[in-house]
Amino acid sequence: MSGPNNGVMVVLEATAGRLSDVSLELISLGKDVANSLGGPLVGVLIGASDVALTAVGCDIVDCYVDFGTIGYSSEMAVTALSARVEAIRPRLLLAPTGTLGLDLCSALSVAFDATLASYVVGLSVDAGRIQATSQLYGGKLLADCDLGDGFAIACVVPGSAVALQLGVGDVEVSNHSLDAIVGSLAIEPGIRHEPEASGVDIVAAELLVSVGRGIGASANLEVVQELADALGVPMSASRPVIDQGWLPKPHQVGKSGKKVKPKVYLSFGISGAPEHLEGMRQSEVIIACNTDPNAPIFKVAHYGTTLDLFDLVPELVELVEG
Ligand SMILES: Cc1cc2nc3c(=O)[nH]c(=O)nc-3n(C[C@H](O)[C@H](O)[C@H](O)COP(=O)(O)OP(=O)(O)OC[C@H]3O[C@@H](n4cnc5c(N)ncnc54)[C@H](O)[C@@H]3O)c2cc1C
Repeated sequence: MSGPNNGVMVVLEATAGRLSDVSLELISLGKDVANSLGGPLVGVLIGASDVALTAVGCDIVDCYVDFGTIGYSSEMAVTALSARVEAIRPRLLLAPTGTLGLDLCSALSVAFDATLASYVVGLSVDAGRIQATSQLYGGKLLADCDLGDGFAIACVVPGSAVALQLGVGDVEVSNHSLDAIVGSLAIEPGIRHEPEASGVDIVAAELLVSVGRGIGASANLEVVQELADALGVPMSASRPVIDQGWLPKPHQVGKSGKKVKPKVYLSFGISGAPEHLEGMRQSEVIIACNTDPNAPIFKVAHYGTTLDLFDLVPELVELVEG
């Protein structure tokens, strides 16, 4: 690739006709960097065609036709994105740390010999050089890195920026087809399973009631749900609760879930494994309930109790309901 322009390219994801929350966060981050560099913000939407594209907050949207009709393969997504990188020559490419970003970023970094920063939680520009802050060791350490003045890729942790509130505006949209790419693939694309839809936005919540494996069984969730309802807030959860199908995936906090920063994070029956802490340790106030006094959650909690959650939660509900 010849030298990059000063634009920023954002990989956008969409499900059920709307951009994902992390896409809106990436647009926010990308806008700031593009403004500092003095280049355009280009959104590349791969694999969806039914998204309203008049208000995505980018200067240009490049989109490929729906994966739904073709199926998904990493090779196809990387080939499609590589063609757009070649054509647009951005200075920085932003993708979410998630299935799509993890699938694409390392392959693109090798293909373009680009600097790759993973688990990015912040970006800035200093004297024309892009600077990234990345999480290490599940968020225990933050590392500042200079991404240099060539083409760089940043894989950004969901929840690292405030999602852009979209207004209605015109955007230059160019459509591309995957047909030519499909013919040249070594591996036939397979079915792509969309995540379950959910009206819950745990990232935007100022107070979260979060539950872990200590709840014991799906039927017991009701106990904590009552508290969440009394407080009028969403319920979030650790991964085992999601893996067992007790709550849908959009409720998961942590490394492979969402990163949340509420004013208050109330946790019940969560041990505080590094992968969970990575998603919530930046909450302003953490309150933990865990019967094990040695549970690691107490190392990050501002307030804690070793009461049994089944004794404490009903009392809290009574207090809240007055
Ligand atoms: C690559 C990778 C990614 C991962 N991503 C995530 C992620 O995104 N999010 C995530 O959460 N985890 C993630 N994990 C899993 C993580 O390592 C832990 O296994 C998980 O966080 C543990 O969940 P937990 O705290 O609910 O369960 P446990 O560790 O089993 O803890 C349950 C806690 O409940 C307490 N307890 C039990 N009964 C009660 C009671 N009656 N009252 C009060 N307390 C009680 C126990 O003392 C215990 O500490 C990931 C792991 C890997 C390897």
